[in-house]
Amino acid sequence: MAVFRSSNILANYNFPLIASLYTMEAMKKQYLNFDDLEQFDQEFFINDSWCNHCYEADLGIIEPKIYILDEKQYLEGNCKVCGKKQTTEIVVTYLND
Ligand SMILES: [Zn+2]
Repeated sequence: MAVFRSSNILANYNFPLIASLYTMEAMKKQYLNFDDLEQFDQEFFINDSWCNHCYEADLGIIEPKIYILDEKQYLEGNCKVCGKKQTTEIVVTYLND
């Protein structure tokens, strides 16, 4: 599973609120609004992809969606080349630069 990092995605959300909503609805995906992401993050997520079917990185995805499940964030989308669905876990790190 491909893993990538974004330094500022959490700044776009009230994450504790989302986390508490999650605990009320166990194992249910909490979709976030992809359009609410900053342009930089949107382009990063769309372009920095890994397709298990093409077995190739950075092909890009279409119809990107972000959701939270089991307290982790995932990016879901369809491969631009083969059209198959792919899901990537988003690992968030805090950088102070
Ligand atoms: Zn593909």
